[in-house]
Amino acid sequence: MKSPRSQSMFASTLIIALAMWPAMAAAGELHFSVVDREVLEARLKSYKGNDSRREATLKGLFEEAGCTGEKLTEQPVKGLKQPNIICELPGNTDSVIVVGAHYDHVDRGDGVIDNWSGASMLPSLYQMLKNQPRQYTFLFISFAGEEKGLVGSKFYVKGLAPEQVKKIRAMICMDTLALGPTEVWVSHSDQALIHQLLRIALSLKAPLTRMDVEKVGESDEESFIQQKVPTITLHSLTEKTLSVLHSPQDNYSAVHFDDYYESYRLVSAYLALLDQEGLPATAPTSNPSAPGAGNALQQH
Ligand SMILES: [Zn+2]
Repeated sequence: MKSPRSQSMFASTLIIALAMWPAMAAAGELHFSVVDREVLEARLKSYKGNDSRREATLKGLFEEAGCTGEKLTEQPVKGLKQPNIICELPGNTDSVIVVGAHYDHVDRGDGVIDNWSGASMLPSLYQMLKNQPRQYTFLFISFAGEEKGLVGSKFYVKGLAPEQVKKIRAMICMDTLALGPTEVWVSHSDQALIHQLLRIALSLKAPLTRMDVEKVGESDEESFIQQKVPTITLHSLTEKTLSVLHSPQDNYSAVHFDDYYESYRLVSAYLALLDQEGLPATAPTSNPSAPGAGNALQQH
């Protein structure tokens, strides 16, 4: 069942010309639709309650976005009360792009930033991709137990057969958005994935800078890196806002909604681009000292 609200009431279609950067073979057009600000904001504001409540809320948001029935599943995780929540959007091939964002939080704040900002964005990303033909199968996964040591994502990855792991061409991790403009953890991300993100950011004129956060800790991408899946990690932390993490300051007053909406537009266009242009079937290139797209990004 689709949401009873008409799609056109809360989505708008964007067409952008792809920037020629740095030496693209051909520039083209990218068509993608996004949900309206009000929809994204209402979803972000639905953070309240403990992790069990958030689990139910998130399932409701996926259903509202149109991910229902057998396409929306819960994976019980050994050692956790809450499951991983998985929304599958099939494509024309069985090559997979995983978009991941944990929904659990620590009790010291409301966990709006870390990481309802990422989790509640997943349904809106699903929604913008679902109406167009796709090459890749997208898995939108909201992991449980990230704060307890990446428990949900480790469990998920361990449960995959080697041939299933091979089908995952990229994992895009969103953790701690909405504090400001989009930041990419370059030293921890695949160069080819950074390159495509940078191109789409230039086309959209969306702000994107580099902020490596080794000192802060890892997120669910780490579970995929262990399996040699290329990953990219997006966040919004800077030196100034590090103190928000796992503190009482992690509440709605820390949200910069304009920046958050820009992050949403950027990731939407990024997923559309990855699907349109495809991903190289190569091993990840996460060596930070290698010359690559990451070095073209300005340090925050
Ligand atoms: Zn987090």
